[in-house]
Amino acid sequence: MDADLRDAAKEYLVRYGGDAFPNLFRSAKGTIVRDSDGREYLDFTSGQMCATIGHNHPAIVAAVHRAGEKAFHFFSGMIPEVVAELARTLAHDWLPGDLKRTIFINTGSEATEVALRMAKMYTGGYEILVLGGSWHGITGGASAVSMASDRQGYGVPTPGVFVIPEPNSYRPLMPGLDEEASALAGLDLALKLFDMQSTGRGAAIMVEPVISAGGVLVPPQSFMQALRKAADERGMLLIFDEAQTAFGRIGTRTGSEYFGVVPDIMTMSKTLGGGLPLAAVATTTQIEEALHDRHFTYYTSHVSDPLTAEVGLAVLQVIADEHLVERANEMGAYLRSNLEQLQQRYEAVGDVRGLGLLLGVELVQDRKSRAPAHALGALTTRKCFEKGLSMNIRRRPERGSVWRIAPPLTVSHDEIDRAVAILSEALGESLNELRSRL
Ligand code: PMP
Repeated sequence: MDADLRDAAKEYLVRYGGDAFPNLFRSAKGTIVRDSDGREYLDFTSGQMCATIGHNHPAIVAAVHRAGEKAFHFFSGMIPEVVAELARTLAHDWLPGDLKRTIFINTGSEATEVALRMAKMYTGGYEILVLGGSWHGITGGASAVSMASDRQGYGVPTPGVFVIPEPNSYRPLMPGLDEEASALAGLDLALKLFDMQSTGRGAAIMVEPVISAGGVLVPPQSFMQALRKAADERGMLLIFDEAQTAFGRIGTRTGSEYFGVVPDIMTMSKTLGGGLPLAAVATTTQIEEALHDRHFTYYTSHVSDPLTAEVGLAVLQVIADEHLVERANEMGAYLRSNLEQLQQRYEAVGDVRGLGLLLGVELVQDRKSRAPAHALGALTTRKCFEKGLSMNIRRRPERGSVWRIAPPLTVSHDEIDRAVAILSEALGESLNELRSRL
């Protein structure tokens, strides 16, 4: 049966990139995912960074059931009660500043499309500034503003995209400057170049509060404040992509809250649906009114779907009831101290960084050169998987070899202990194996 389905997967599926596992998978609960042989793995990626309250939380299962008894879907012009309730909950309990009005769609890529359409229509401009390590999605507009994704082979991206070097505390771009000064100098230079190239029709600056796919990079607070100022000075909107950072993962309600900087538009996705395809884009009443006057549309089959809204509401309730924002700090500190112990043991662990339970571990050949250890990263990740720990390594040649470690916020001390023990063992074995190959 399993072999049969593995063959079917090979024969009938389009391969969509990334590191696909050879196994097929069947079920998931909490921090554990199971393959079709019944083998269990600790899921330290929370699925695709979505299952922040753990896989198949009973509250999510109940919400899906509730939607089954009410409605999964309506005509897009019919606003479900539960969608109104979710929008109010976000505005009252979660969103910063004047962000009050929200649209609900399905994926992070789509949220980026919505945000870009809003910014373009509101400003009348089209130019977008993004960070070098950005990942905002894979659809047309979103892939044009994503620099950490594969860009080659898909034709002409939308014009008007400009890049700001991403701050990198471990590898400051500007020689001789510390991380903050380097980040600000890079921004200053990028803005000067942008002002030279701009047609005067700027629309937005878009940024992830933690540049995640780009290597789990946490910008200095002054950098985020400078982005706010740069946007204001140019009549552009500031967009925060909070696909990964909203709703507790980094130990605050949002990245905006962490940095004390309020954007004009905030996109949310992965962490809102808890594993179901729910995304949202919030903006101010003033911007929404102006957009509506200009006949803003984003009318899709699954806009405002009640099924995913029911789940989103349940996810937010669980985060509040189980104090998961606070828990992200507590468990994040515990995981981090364990990873720092690994760093003391292994020269190859060059850097441990991140916020809350969104942590990055960068592997290097040695601490002096800081040369990326790609082979070590790949081998250790494979060994971890064989030993029952699922990890994600970002391995773009231009941006180092970095594990993004992000278990569900419900992870236990015991699960962290088990994961770190596996990681340590896998790292030790991989180092020996690679050394013996030399
Ligand atoms: N923004 C960020 C910050 C992301 O990490 C991702 C997904 N990796 C996206 C947007 C795109 O989301 P999706 O894959 O749901 O389209």
